[in-house]
Amino acid sequence: MSSKWFLGLLCLSLGAAEVVKEADPKALAAIVSFLASDALEGRDTPSPGLTIAGEFIASEFRRIGIKPGANGFYFQDAKAIARHVQRHGFELSFSDGSKTVKVPLETAQWNVGSKLDLSDASVQKLSYSELKDLSAETVAPVIVLSGPVTGPGAMMAMNRLATKGAKLIVLLGIPAPLPQVSLEFDGRSNAGAVLLRSTDAATEDFLKASTQLTATVKLSEASRKPELVRNVVGLLPGSDASLKDEYLVISAHYDHIGIRPNQPGDNIYNGANDDASGTASMLESARLLVDRKPKRSILFVAFFGEEKGLLGSRYFADHPIVPLRQIVADLNLEQTGRTDSSEGPNVGMANLTGYHFTNIHTFLEEAGQETGVKLVKHEKFNEPYFMASDNAALAAAGIPSTTLSVTYAFPDYHERGDHWDKLDYDNMAKITRTIAQGALLMANAPERVRWNADEVKVKAYRDAAEKLRQMK
Ligand SMILES: [Zn+2]
Repeated sequence: MSSKWFLGLLCLSLGAAEVVKEADPKALAAIVSFLASDALEGRDTPSPGLTIAGEFIASEFRRIGIKPGANGFYFQDAKAIARHVQRHGFELSFSDGSKTVKVPLETAQWNVGSKLDLSDASVQKLSYSELKDLSAETVAPVIVLSGPVTGPGAMMAMNRLATKGAKLIVLLGIPAPLPQVSLEFDGRSNAGAVLLRSTDAATEDFLKASTQLTATVKLSEASRKPELVRNVVGLLPGSDASLKDEYLVISAHYDHIGIRPNQPGDNIYNGANDDASGTASMLESARLLVDRKPKRSILFVAFFGEEKGLLGSRYFADHPIVPLRQIVADLNLEQTGRTDSSEGPNVGMANLTGYHFTNIHTFLEEAGQETGVKLVKHEKFNEPYFMASDNAALAAAGIPSTTLSVTYAFPDYHERGDHWDKLDYDNMAKITRTIAQGALLMANAPERVRWNADEVKVKAYRDAAEKLRQMK
């Protein structure tokens, strides 16, 4: 046996052993079609549909052979107080001094916030594009905001208005209904200003045409009810004695936005691509990795409440299952199924948010060379979308993180038509194999994943990571 031939054989067998096997498109379709079925009613947080979805994810972990990851259980229980909008006692009218317009209750929809009782309060009109550079320290208690109010920074912009004194933000030009429930954990409320929309054309015309407005508002206190919501956590223990106490997290949110009543026809927001797809990719990557003996341990986590403001991932970071300093990275998965991006077809490629914020991209790029998937840095969205999904909650705690997606904007995003049969499962299988392979490389790497030391934009995350490191 010539040494050259021997070396070649060795490399070949090592190479074959290193790459995870193919993902199964049918398994992915089975998972997505169940989670996104009408029976689960859009998996709102909290809802019976979300509870069933959580049980299903845990049963998949059992089937695959993934162990319970939350102190011997598959569920990390989070006790919450659910606050529901109360529609009785509603009153909203606008006046310009000579004319008063009353908003009819049946056209109005608002989310949970504080009880409001304002008479002849001053009204300030703003456009959404003005919010970014709003330097004023205070704003009027009632804001009329013209849209479109969309994109990753929208909630943050609204919260800024609340800190400047806004109590009610009346939204013009947003089509999607507002959530009717909010959750509080540990006695902390994340409610900002109340957001309200009305489909009443007379109101909209009046608000657009008038200046010097005042408003009278009465909104009842939201009801309060205890609820239990749960992150679902599976564990693949590491095989290396010195590295098994370090954890890689592969995560996806299993909730969506539920049912929004008072609309003709289909009322269920099925959330197939957002984010039954990421949940399915998480589960299928667990199946691909279960017999691969990664050196570091891997936690597979399905988060609740992403759509209500990263609630599950924040809870996970606030109530660590394992010490946060032992979590080396979070690879979060969103929208891994649809290839019909609003910007054109996205086949054989995947986006990463905060592309150069960490070195996670190097592992996925290497994996992609094996699986035929190109990793892409979306010049416009990779940074803003870093803050728009669950990875952000772990990043804020100092954990290097990213969210992998095939598409960002796609037709049916947060619409009722986000159905399971619109996903490209063959492509999704390739993407999922890349996720599993990239995760394996991260779990086996001699050095931990790290924040980019040369990137000034991640300084706050690096500081948080350093704080974690010093916590012994
Ligand atoms: Zn999502």
